[in-house]
Amino acid sequence: MSEAGRDYIGFATLPDQVHRKSVKRGFEFTLMVVGDSGLGKSTLINSLFLEDLYKNRTISDVEDRIHKTTTIEKTTMEIEERGVRVRLTIIDTPGFGDAVNCDDSWKVVTTYIDDQFRQYFTDESGLNRRNIQDNRVHCCLYFVPPWGHSLRQMDLEVLKRLHRKVNIVLVIAKADTLTTCEVEKLKTNILNAIRENDIQIYEFPECDSDEDEEFKQQDRELKASVPFAVVGSNTILEVAGRKIRGRQYPWGVVDGTVDIQFNCEIIFLPL
Ligand code: GDP
Repeated sequence: MSEAGRDYIGFATLPDQVHRKSVKRGFEFTLMVVGDSGLGKSTLINSLFLEDLYKNRTISDVEDRIHKTTTIEKTTMEIEERGVRVRLTIIDTPGFGDAVNCDDSWKVVTTYIDDQFRQYFTDESGLNRRNIQDNRVHCCLYFVPPWGHSLRQMDLEVLKRLHRKVNIVLVIAKADTLTTCEVEKLKTNILNAIRENDIQIYEFPECDSDEDEEFKQQDRELKASVPFAVVGSNTILEVAGRKIRGRQYPWGVVDGTVDIQFNCEIIFLPL
């Protein structure tokens, strides 16, 4: 117990110590993006993290894609916000769904996830546990095409194999191509398909009852928006004196950041 004027050192300071240590060390977060080519995955990731993470990307031509197998591409970057450092790793899966026979697309993805679990388990069982690098996939952003009526058979097959291994966040890609009613209908159909097939997607945790009303409202809106309809853009436009990441069309501009009227929610995931 301290005397007046001295710093208190006791178990009451443990949360502060843990907090300080965690902030100093930083956090690791690995996000996997899965979905057909051309659904706007790279654009959305660049929009979310305000970086060009795909500088060296080459897009293969149709001939190549017929036989192409899914590959795993890993990009890591350090981001810092208000003194908190995050080592963000994006796992992309180019070639997913490109081949004529997509039966094996999911195999590459599940094998990668399993391998990371195995590696982490081996590291945890070893002697030097201090500096383990956590490469496990924490979250999978699964892109659903906007042009169907619901999830396709292929989506269901992939999701059934992934849902017990990783937190799945479903997003409806290119939601600016749908009207508000169409977005609502597609969301309902997707949720029904998920329920009927017993697929478990990520559920946001319940917020504490003592949180303020604004936070609770935000939490309710977020939960009601699942699956998220998203619009990505790499272009900065100036609209009414305001700079936005948007998409310029002959008939107007779609704000790609957050646009509730269009029912497009761009999300940052809690760690
Ligand atoms: P990826 O192959 O899934 O990574 O797709 P890209 O990010 O390369 O995007 C493919 C094409 O779709 C590009 O021409 C993008 O400009 C366009 N695109 C990306 N996001 C959107 C979106 O939200 N809406 C629309 N309409 N087009 C988009």
